Amino acid sequence: PPPPFTPFLGARIAVVGLGRAGLPAALRLAEWGAEVEAWDDGETARKAAEEAGLTVRNPAEGKFRADALLLSPGIPHILPKSHPAAAAARKAGAPILCDAEFLYRAVLASHAGARFVGVTGTNGKSTTTALIHHILTGAGRPAQVGGNLGPAALGLKMLGSDGVYTLEMSSYMLERIATLRFNVAVMLNLSADHLDRHGDMAGYAAAKARIFARQTADDVAVLGQDDAMTAAMGRGLKPRIVPISGTTAQKGGIWAAGRILRDEAGVILDLNDAPTLPGSHNAQNAAAASAACFALGVARDQVAAGLRSYPGLPHRQERVAETGGVLFVNDSKATNADSTARALASYDRVVLIAGGTAKEGGIDSLVPLFPRIAKAFLIGRDAPILAKTLAEHGVAHEIVGMLDAATRAAADAAFAGAAPVVLLSPACASWDQFTGFDARGDRFRDLARAIAEEHA
Ligand code: ADP
Repeated sequence: PPPPFTPFLGARIAVVGLGRAGLPAALRLAEWGAEVEAWDDGETARKAAEEAGLTVRNPAEGKFRADALLLSPGIPHILPKSHPAAAAARKAGAPILCDAEFLYRAVLASHAGARFVGVTGTNGKSTTTALIHHILTGAGRPAQVGGNLGPAALGLKMLGSDGVYTLEMSSYMLERIATLRFNVAVMLNLSADHLDRHGDMAGYAAAKARIFARQTADDVAVLGQDDAMTAAMGRGLKPRIVPISGTTAQKGGIWAAGRILRDEAGVILDLNDAPTLPGSHNAQNAAAASAACFALGVARDQVAAGLRSYPGLPHRQERVAETGGVLFVNDSKATNADSTARALASYDRVVLIAGGTAKEGGIDSLVPLFPRIAKAFLIGRDAPILAKTLAEHGVAHEIVGMLDAATRAAADAAFAGAAPVVLLSPACASWDQFTGFDARGDRFRDLARAIAEEHA
């Protein structure tokens, strides 16, 4: 048998946060030779780690013994809310890293020819990441996709020297990389949406710009030009810059003119032939994904084929069934009013299914979009809260409680002519009735397909 792969032999790594990503990461690092010290503030997670054979110890207690700290993305490491383990690592001079950094080191140790693509920005990260991966696999390239989009970086399969790893990089992950060099770095856009956790715009932009930090002149930076702050990031960068836009012609770049995606060599694709990529925001994503794939040597026709056949992301305005002039859309990922607003803005008139555990403010911010709701069917714990807002604005609605009944009732209303779209976009978390938004969306997809079959 081949000798075991142990790129981290002799390394001592503390892993803090043993959730869905953290526990497999800790196990993988141990498998790869590291001396792992695992910790979670929750007792259940600690017990699971112990049962999996890991050494459980709080690195914040006593002397900090590890060479590096792998901190789960959700755990703050910057003051004032910094986790004690982060403070201990900092005091000991040990770097705080994310799992993508460790994946990179392991890949570099075994298959130095493999390539890394990083995708970041405020909006469109998941779509662009998934789109790049879809084009690559369609073109027959060995590829893996993960990061913020899930699965976690250390959960990915190891590829050979011709492999491509496409990683969605959140700002939290970018703050926790050290040597990770992206052969292709995609920076889509920057807007003020996510400032709550980063403090100020300059800090947020600086975190995002780290995606370029290790790039050399052999690498490519795909840079959005549709907002000034992103466009300005190109100044002084070492890699070759490919400018991209969802609206405006770009010298040496890729852009969409209306729905025509093109570069200086000509048309790449009429995006009307890419039904899962509506809107100029998706034109920007398509331009970025095309630029990344060209940089990796994918042929023009294969890029076009991938854009055409992209299935879209599950649970995000996912078209799950269509029958009798009615389209069923699964937008279960919309766990707050902002996300539901985006879905409502995409359709002129819908029968809406919403509800669950409401966020603060409920659906008050949706009022300007209420004229698009022919009728709402409400589910879950906070249905009465949503009903109150709808009633105040004269929107037809009904509290039905469970998703199954709501989907049937919404379909009946749509078939009777209320609206051509049944939209599940709950504006609420799902925890009161489901294990997560994905279980909720999966259930809706099954129901919608069954209804469509009965109706056909
Ligand atoms: P992210 O992973 O960055 O949150 P997604 O690809 O999951 O982004 O898209 C989330 C939502 O953001 C989409 O439903 C869409 O409304 C909006 N969006 C997608 N791409 C862009 C873009 N390039 N610019 C602005 N908004 C976008």
